[in-house]
Amino acid sequence: MPILAQYAVGSIQRYLIAEYCQLWTASGGHSLTYQTKKMARKRLYNLVNSDELKRRMLESKEARTTLSFYRYHQIKDPAAFRDELYLRWNRLGVFGRIYVASEGINGQISVPESNFEAFREDMYAIPWLNGARLNIAIDDDGKSFYKLKIKVRDKIVADGLDDQSFDVTKRGKHLSADEVNQLLDSPDTIVVDMRNHYESEVGHFEGAVCPDVETFREALPIVEEMLEDKKDHPIIMYCTGGIRCEKASAYYLHKGFDKVFMIDGGIIEYARQCREKGLPIKFKGKNFVFDERMGERIGEEVIAHCHQCGQPCDTHVNCANDACHILFLQCEACAEKYHNCCSQKCSDFTQLPEEQREALRGQVEFNGTKFGKGRYKALRKDEALAL
Ligand SMILES: [Zn+2]
Ligand SMILES: [Zn+2]
Repeated sequence: MPILAQYAVGSIQRYLIAEYCQLWTASGGHSLTYQTKKMARKRLYNLVNSDELKRRMLESKEARTTLSFYRYHQIKDPAAFRDELYLRWNRLGVFGRIYVASEGINGQISVPESNFEAFREDMYAIPWLNGARLNIAIDDDGKSFYKLKIKVRDKIVADGLDDQSFDVTKRGKHLSADEVNQLLDSPDTIVVDMRNHYESEVGHFEGAVCPDVETFREALPIVEEMLEDKKDHPIIMYCTGGIRCEKASAYYLHKGFDKVFMIDGGIIEYARQCREKGLPIKFKGKNFVFDERMGERIGEEVIAHCHQCGQPCDTHVNCANDACHILFLQCEACAEKYHNCCSQKCSDFTQLPEEQREALRGQVEFNGTKFGKGRYKALRKDEALAL
C-alpha cells in the first residue's frame, strides 16, 4: 500500500477523533449522535456563504500566487485522499478548485505567497506528486479564487472517453516552446486548439483550427472529423495547461493519426518558456482561465469583439442577471449601457423588486440558463422584458 494512503487514513482518523473529543466535551460527556459526528466531518468543507468569501478575497491585501497542476496516478481511495488534502491545504490558506479521481488529480489554485514554499514542500511530500509541474499564472493579481473546493469525480477531465478502449499511456510527444515554433514553420503542420469556443475566441495560435464547441467531450469527435484526410500531417494539439491533450493525443494516435504532438504544459508553459528564452510568441491574444480573472494576457493584440457593439474587446463577463449568468464579451461602453447585463431584458429584470424576480424565475427565458456556457445571442440584446 502506498505510504500516503496509510498516512491519509491515519491522519483523517486522528483529526476526526480530535473533533469528536471536542464535541463530546462540549456536550457534557454524553455519547455522540450521528448528527454530531456529521458536524465534525462538515468541518472538512467550507460552509461560509460564497458572496461573503468573495468580498473578503477582494478586500484582502494578502499577496497570492495562482497556479495549476495535474498528474495522472492511480489513487486507491479518492475520498480519503480528498479529506486529507482538504485538511492539509486548508491550513495553508490554499483557495481554488481541485478534482480528485481514481485516475489522478487536477487543480487550479491560489496560495498565499508567504506559504508558497510550505505548500510546495507539502505537495512534494506526497511521493507521486513530487516534482509535478506547478504552472504559475502569467498575468496574476492573486484574485483568482476565494475558497477551497476539493471534489471527488469519476475523472479529472470530463472527456467522455472510454479509457479501456485504447492505450491511454501511448501519448503524443511533448514539445517545448522552441520545438513548437520550429514545427509551426513547416507548411504541413496543423495546429489544433482543443479548448472550447469561448476560450479560443479571445486567444489562439496563428492559423489554429478552433472547433466551435462548448465542451471538451464535444471537441474530440469534431476534430477527428475535421482532420480525417490529414492523418499523415504533423498535428500539434494544445490546451490551457496541457491536461486535456494528454488523453486526447493518445486517442488520436489510436485513431490512426501518425504524428501527434502536444505543447508541454499548454499555453501557460509555452508563454513562460518564450518569455524566459526571448522566443517569438506565436499565440495571439488572451489565455482564457477558469477563475475570477477570466483570462491572462499573452499577446498585446485584442483579437475578439464585443458581442454587443462589435468593437475590439476581449473582456469576458457573466451577465449580471443571476437568472441568466451567460458568459460573453462586453466592452465598457456596453457594460454601462446594459447595466452589466447581456441584454435589455436582463437589465430590466435586475431592476425589478426581489419578490417579483423570484416569482418570475423559471418563467422568463434569458440568453443564459445560469449553468450552461451557451452561446450569446447578440440579436436579442435590445428585446425588453415583457411582463
Ligand atoms: Zn460594446
Ligand atoms: Zn443575461
